[in-house]
Amino acid sequence: MIHPWQAPLFAQLASRRQHLPHALLLHGRAGLGKTDFALHFAQSLLCETPQADGAACTRCAACGWFEAGHHPDFRWVSLQEEDASEEEGPGEGKTRKAPTQITVDAIRALSGFMTTSTHRQGKRIVLIAPADALNVNAANALLKTLEEPLPGTLFLLVSDEPGRLAATIRSRCQNVRFNLPPVAEAQAWLAAQGVESAPLFLALAGGAPLEARRLALQDAGQRAALLQLLSNPAASLGQLSEQAARMPTPEWIGWLQRWAHDLLEQKLAGQPRYHLDFSEALARMAQRADLYDLLAWERQLRDARRLANHPLNARLLAESLLVPGLAMR
Ligand SMILES: [Zn+2]
Repeated sequence: MIHPWQAPLFAQLASRRQHLPHALLLHGRAGLGKTDFALHFAQSLLCETPQADGAACTRCAACGWFEAGHHPDFRWVSLQEEDASEEEGPGEGKTRKAPTQITVDAIRALSGFMTTSTHRQGKRIVLIAPADALNVNAANALLKTLEEPLPGTLFLLVSDEPGRLAATIRSRCQNVRFNLPPVAEAQAWLAAQGVESAPLFLALAGGAPLEARRLALQDAGQRAALLQLLSNPAASLGQLSEQAARMPTPEWIGWLQRWAHDLLEQKLAGQPRYHLDFSEALARMAQRADLYDLLAWERQLRDARRLANHPLNARLLAESLLVPGLAMR
């Protein structure tokens, strides 16, 4: 599926379908629909009777296989379940570890696919998404393949954070940059998707429409509950950390990061950027907050976010991260 804001980019790439390099790096911030775009583009290249604008016909045999997830000349390399045996600690740590890496096995597993002849029109496509999840060994294995490109093979790498990719891999890909769509277009799309308060959620998502939709769908008032407590001088640390513990760790840390960022913006530029519905509380708190305390809190939150997938003790973490914010009420 292609999203409306991607149509110009699709037209641009589709017009080059006979002259594509052997690797494209689709990059841009999360929530812009890059992987959806990559799938749509891959299908259009494998389609046997593409439409005049380059889009897949959705009716030929190749389209049928692609949509059913088993086109023989297409592979999607993604995150795999990791060995959870190192899981530490009882109790809270019991939840299964979410996969975070693409390992070398996944790249090695492509070798059969890469060396047998293609089944249909001679095109072979490998999608690697999220490409920044390639670990060092996987990246090295991929590099060898990219150094000796096979004719007719196209690698599509998708990344929210291309800076995390090995420079040697980046240098072998042609860049395709995804930009934020115009605000009005994104808001209209969100409204058509049934998202109420589209401007608020688009702001919370930093302008990325799919991220905004995801936030709107999962929100169910948890963010507002957390921020109401955070901005209420009568609320206790215990109440706050309890509310935080009801939400996934990366999520509430993300909300606090935006909160700290808003306090900074309010202080320096006179208006918040994300939590538009808390502008009054933010204005009040920004006056009281010390700039250096704020910067230190922002840094503390950023560091915690990086470790958020391995919370040692969610409650302890919540309390240590919330204390600086409380002092600003
Ligand atoms: Zn087709």
